[in-house]
Parts: sequence; structure tokens; C-alpha cells
Amino acid sequence: MIFNFLATNAQLNQEPKKITNKFFSELNNLENITPALKKKKGFTNYEELIDFIDEKVKKYPESVSSSFIGESQKGKKIPLIYIKKKNHNDEKKLKVWMQGGLHGNEPASTESLLYLIHLILEDSDYNYLLNKIELAILPMANIDGFLKNDRYAANGLDLNRDHTKMMAPETKASKVAFADFDPHVALDFHEYRPFRKDFAQLSSFGIANPYDVMFLHTGNLNVPENIRTIIDTLFVKNAKKSLDKLNLRHRHYIKSEKYKGEIHFSTGSNTARSSSNFYALNNGIATLFEIRGVGIGKTSFKRRINSGLSVGFSFLKTAYENSIFIFDEIAKANTYSNDIVLEHQRSVYSDVIKAIDIGSNEMIDFETTMHSSKDSYAISKRDRPLAYIVKQNNFGFIEKLKDVGVDYVELQKDTVIYSGSYRVIEFYDNFKVYEKMRMQKVVTSIEYNNNGFSKGDILISMNQKRSNLIVELLEPEAPNSYVSFGIINTSLNSQLPIYRIKNLNN
Ligand SMILES: [Zn+2]
Repeated sequence: MIFNFLATNAQLNQEPKKITNKFFSELNNLENITPALKKKKGFTNYEELIDFIDEKVKKYPESVSSSFIGESQKGKKIPLIYIKKKNHNDEKKLKVWMQGGLHGNEPASTESLLYLIHLILEDSDYNYLLNKIELAILPMANIDGFLKNDRYAANGLDLNRDHTKMMAPETKASKVAFADFDPHVALDFHEYRPFRKDFAQLSSFGIANPYDVMFLHTGNLNVPENIRTIIDTLFVKNAKKSLDKLNLRHRHYIKSEKYKGEIHFSTGSNTARSSSNFYALNNGIATLFEIRGVGIGKTSFKRRINSGLSVGFSFLKTAYENSIFIFDEIAKANTYSNDIVLEHQRSVYSDVIKAIDIGSNEMIDFETTMHSSKDSYAISKRDRPLAYIVKQNNFGFIEKLKDVGVDYVELQKDTVIYSGSYRVIEFYDNFKVYEKMRMQKVVTSIEYNNNGFSKGDILISMNQKRSNLIVELLEPEAPNSYVSFGIINTSLNSQLPIYRIKNLNN
């Protein structure tokens, strides 16, 4: 076992040539037109990124613009690129948000986006997409991390766990821009590590993950079912077909995890703190996808960019071909009225995954136990209110609600409203700090009374498109809520500053 561990650890930063040659032959169809493709060593740096963007803005002033949406922790301005062709008719365009580099050690995510920008502007095979689509592209979401080839932001936070608590300035900047752009479709480009430490313990000499692309789309049950179905059976399905054409291997996202001392696998995701769920909770057609690339330097770099382009353009084509349908389905989702799911449970089943056996250098079928967030079920629910009321407080989360685009009104005078107040009847905070947050777990009881509110307290109607996101942020038991993340500090028997107005139709 010690030998296996060492053997695979040595491979963490370099893929054995025999694996690359047999399973990941390079695709040499790309031209060296992006910064990292132009040079032999290293990836796109900040100056090269800005120059690349400026050049496109200069060449296509009618359709390309860029703005800085904020600053990284180390003071680098964060660019966002807008691409919108002037209409000859008045057709409403579908808005697509794409981002990469949220984890700084996933370079093909950024490079795929730069190449995609180039192709959609320069190549008539792709340029027509802009007749029905406009784009906002955030190519390097975590600049400080990217420049150090480090997953984390400068303060050590994982920006793909920060979507609800919003503790990093990069998150705030992208949330404000995202809400402002208000996309119908969102795609988050990532890369994954094919040689995980615990893979060394599997099979005789360890295994490696053989998939060029893995799709991580939402299993969150507060996302309207039609949105979840469209993501899975239309967008991701089409993207898989386009990968098939290039003989690129794909599947739903899997990762290994320790479960009672054994190594199991999990698939999918249902937590609002990560991008694909957060975006889908905005009633967006959203997916995160992972290209096989972390820890292998520039190995198969063009193949990895091909993976990114293939998925990116497939999403754009699917959006283009189904634009009316998507407008309609999002409008339906915006009136979603199901009960709120407070707690998700993953389904568990035995599964067979493909793996590269490092000892034999052969593709094998690997039997494992799968914990699926993609197929989650509800274990606790609560009725959906008509509105929430939040009392003025010093916790700072009202600003966060505003930043993610939640609509609310301030009460204009002191008033009494029949409403439910949350009292904490069970309280736990004796578990480890997560992402620098002192987590809390609560159970609340709700009592309906005539409660007094003051001028300046805020009323949040649930008759808005972000209602499904609102429940994940405000319902205290929701695992990524402001209470769970300790942003609203509470204790046993305390009342929360959050109230709810009952929907009498429920
Ligand atoms: Zn990532």
C-alpha cells in the first residue's frame, strides 16, 4: 500500500506517458491563437488576458465590449466580456453566461473560453449563433489563484463553495454582474484531477480517471423539475453527442469519497453553495463541467481545449435551436409553487465505472458504491410562504440578498403583520470550521402571531424568479443558508430576524 501511494503520488503532477499515448492522444486541429497556446511553457497570464480582450474589443467595437466588475484580493481588476451582435430584427436574445478559472489550477477552462471568443467572432461556422444569443464571459474568475496555478483565492477560500455565503470579493463581483446580466443559460468551465490520492488504493497499483469530460449538473430539488429535465435530457445530452463525435469520453461527474472507512464514489451535486446549483436556483439552464486536466501540466492541452469548445458550442447551439422553448420553460419555472425542500438525501446504489488500471494500463470496469446527489430525494419539507420579512440587523446578509438580485421593498412605516417567527429549538455548532465559517445546524419551530415591524425592515415577495434561491438562503435549516453558515449568529431558544407570511392557498 505504501508503495502504491508513492507510485501514484509521483504521478500527481505528471501523467505517465504510456497512459497519455494510449488514451489521450493529442487533437492537433487548433491554431495557436490564444496566449497559452502561443507559448511552450506556462499558461495565460494577466497581461496576456487583458491584451487578448482589448484586441477583440478593438477589432469588433460593434459587438464586443468589456468591463471590470471588481477587483481580486490582490488588486487585479476582473474583466467580463460581453458579446452581442446588433439585431437586424427585434428578436429577443437568449442570454448565456460562461465562466472559467474559478479554481486557479484549471487552465484549460480559461483557455477554452478565450478560444471560444475567437471562434464565435472570426469563424462563420459559429458566428451565426450571435443572431439569437448574447454572451457574458468571465474567463478568469479567480485571478489571484490562476496566476499561481492554485485552486484557491488569495485568502484560501474555495470560490466554488462561496456562492451563498459570499465571503470573497471575487464572489460578490461576479454575483452582482450575474444578477445584472440575468442569463437564461449558464455554463461553468472546470478541470478535474484524474489521479486522486485515494485512487492509489484501488485496484492493484491504483487507477486513473479516464473521462475527458464529466458533467456536474444540479440535483437540487428546489430547482423546478422542468429546468432540471431540460439541463439533463436536452443540453447535457446534446453536449455528450458532440463529444462522441470527437471520440472524447464523458459521463456524469463522479468523485471518490471515504465512507465509513471504505472508498465509495459520489455523483452529482445538490448544494446551493456551488455554481451549477446556485445558477439553476436562479431558474437558469446551468451546468458545471469538468475537463480532465488538474495536475498534469500542459499534457493533452489541445485535447482539453477541444473538450471545452465542444461542450461550450454544443450549449450555444442547443440554446440557439431551442430559444423559444427555453423562454417559455423559464417563464413557467418562474411561477414555481412546490413545497420547499429543506434537506436532501442522496440515493445509494451499486454501480460500475470505467477506470484506467495503472498496473496493466488497460481500461477496466470498476465496481463501486455510488452516492447520487443527482438522484436526491427530500427528507424534510416546509410550505412555501407568500413572502418573507427580514428585520433590520447587523449580520450583513441583506446586502448579500441585494447582490444576488433578490427583489425586496422596504417597509415605509411601522406596522403589524400576521406572520410566522422562527425560534431555534435545537442548536449545534460543535463541528469543524468549514471554509473559515463557524457552521451552525438548527431546527426551528414557527409560530404565527401579529408581529410588529419597523420602517426599513424588508419585505421579500416570493412572486419573483429567484424564489427558489431565496428559500436556500433564508430557511434556517437549509444546509447553505445564512444561519447554517453562521452569518446569522444564533443560539438555542433565540428568535431569528427572519419571518414568513403564510400562503393561504397552501
Ligand atoms: Zn474546479
